[in-house]
Amino acid sequence: MEILVTNDDGIDSPGLWALAEAMSRIGPTTVVAPDSEQSGVGTSVSVRGYGDFPYEEVVSRVPGVPAYSVSGTPTDSVIVAMRYLSPDKRFDIVVSGINPGANCGRDVHYSGTVSATLQGHFRNIAAVAVSLVLRYRGEKPKWETAAVAAEHVVRHIEAGHLPVGPILNVNVPNLPIEEIRGVVTTRTATVSYNRMVKVPSKDGVGFTLQLRPADEAQHPEGTDIWAVNADMVSITPMTLDPTDHGLVVELAEPVRQLESDLLGDRSTG
Ligand code: MN
Repeated sequence: MEILVTNDDGIDSPGLWALAEAMSRIGPTTVVAPDSEQSGVGTSVSVRGYGDFPYEEVVSRVPGVPAYSVSGTPTDSVIVAMRYLSPDKRFDIVVSGINPGANCGRDVHYSGTVSATLQGHFRNIAAVAVSLVLRYRGEKPKWETAAVAAEHVVRHIEAGHLPVGPILNVNVPNLPIEEIRGVVTTRTATVSYNRMVKVPSKDGVGFTLQLRPADEAQHPEGTDIWAVNADMVSITPMTLDPTDHGLVVELAEPVRQLESDLLGDRSTG
């Protein structure tokens, strides 16, 4: 199984290398990641010079794992890897992370960690996003817990016990593995895990917005936020079909009326 490891925190993030080390225990692994912090960029693609992203091989921190940094976004990095870096090699899976911070609820739509996996998903290969749920600033990340969880997820995909089709969005509580209380499938919560708080800036003149985990409110059972708040590993199978299929049928008649108004005699109805 050929494994591509990427992230949105940049090539120097310790989470990237913890993940690469875990993946290298499974199969041939290549690291291709942005050369700088790209958290929150979502699915951004660098349009400038599209198809000509600057990238370079860098010193790897895991023996036998080639590593490249890309001057661009997480999505750019995966495109570089897929199209240019190894044209002869077909990756079987994209694994993104380990992100220091949850990617739960609405935040998945902004997440560079999750978005990086889209390029694998679009190419019909397995895609896994891995995040470590940190609750306060300065909390020491337990990378190994998320790394070993990711290793198990990928091994189960390889064995055919977990599907290749969906993106698997994995959120891991920042606890020693002995304190993890379960592993559950979840749905994405419809609220944000993080919230913006307004903090006076140091110069006392203005304000700055800082991201903080949302209050420990009650979250509906079965959601990703509920699971991680209960000290369980959350695995959300994601599809990214943006169509509301029910409404395609339901809106057919109102749209026919609109068509008639717009086109008059030329309307198909
Ligand atoms: Mn990040």
